Amino acid sequence: MAAWKDNIRRVVPYVPGEQPKEPDIIKLNTNENPYGPTPRIKGISDDPDMLRLYPDPSISLLVDELARYHGVDSSQIFVGVGSDDVLAMSFMTFFNSDKPILFPDVTYSFYDVWADLFRIPYERPLLDDSFRLVKEDYYKDNGGIVFPNPNAPTGIYEPIETIEDIVKNNQDSIVIIDEAYIDFGGESALPLINKYDNLVIVRTFSKSRSMAGLRIGYAISNPELIKALNDVKYSYNSYTMNRPSIIMGAESVKDEEYFRNTINMVIKTREEFVEAVGALGFSCLPSATNFVFAKHEFIPAKDIFLAAKEAKIYVRYFDSPRINNYLRISIGTDEEMTTFVNFLKEFVSSYNKDSLN
Ligand code: PMP
Repeated sequence: MAAWKDNIRRVVPYVPGEQPKEPDIIKLNTNENPYGPTPRIKGISDDPDMLRLYPDPSISLLVDELARYHGVDSSQIFVGVGSDDVLAMSFMTFFNSDKPILFPDVTYSFYDVWADLFRIPYERPLLDDSFRLVKEDYYKDNGGIVFPNPNAPTGIYEPIETIEDIVKNNQDSIVIIDEAYIDFGGESALPLINKYDNLVIVRTFSKSRSMAGLRIGYAISNPELIKALNDVKYSYNSYTMNRPSIIMGAESVKDEEYFRNTINMVIKTREEFVEAVGALGFSCLPSATNFVFAKHEFIPAKDIFLAAKEAKIYVRYFDSPRINNYLRISIGTDEEMTTFVNFLKEFVSSYNKDSLN
């Protein structure tokens, strides 16, 4: 075997949800927002300079807008190409100890991939039987901590007191709270950055701002940690964010009313959906996100997943320990969710008949 084969970095990659090419599907599998982004972005990409010129490497337009929005200084914001990019940069920047980093056994399935990619040792404390975080499991020597709040794919929000206890008990490590879904319920840990210098909050424009296609994510922390992130970024690629994304992102932040309205619509649809499927024998974990994690009282999740796909309705199924009888269902429009509920009604009643035969 050629010697260079030993020098290839071999990793098991993250598997994103399917992006089906067929028309007329109902897509409830990757937690996109069913409503479009702010209408203020119309016409922005028509300007030829938008693509001809290099973007501003410091992304200052968007950084300043986010700083204003969150009431922090611009030196406290780092913008990246989706929160996946921000998280990957954060792993590279902050997790350089020989001690294992900690994240839950059931959580965003990219964390272990980055840890493997960057050769960071890790441990995965178990969530309890109700998929709740056991904070005491994080009170031990570690090389850093990362988890989403609300968690994914469970949708469960942990109270701010739990987050503060974890940050407080780990002042020798960086704690990253991935708040990808925080706008759909729950209180942000953001104010804690003024109290603790080891906390990094990560957010995305992909869910609540309906801009998954643009790829915008950001971190909020103290200037020292944000500078460390920027130093790593500039050592890698200075022009990470394209010009249309910077300008459209800033327009989204300015349109608070549209943002709140669409979030409230998603939350209302979520609550109605939970009730409707409850009547069909499903139980959903309490969700503070734009998706629900649901299981049926007797029908295996995989059967529902495959039948729904056949009916051109895509939801997410993870064939992983502890969660392989759940479906993660993104909240679409009222119309899409009604179609899905009607499909489930049919499916559950014919499943009942089949199992009686
Ligand atoms: N964190 C969590 C918990 C997520 O579910 C996702 C979506 N896959 C991300 C981060 C990344 O989102 P994006 O890169 O689109 O900002």
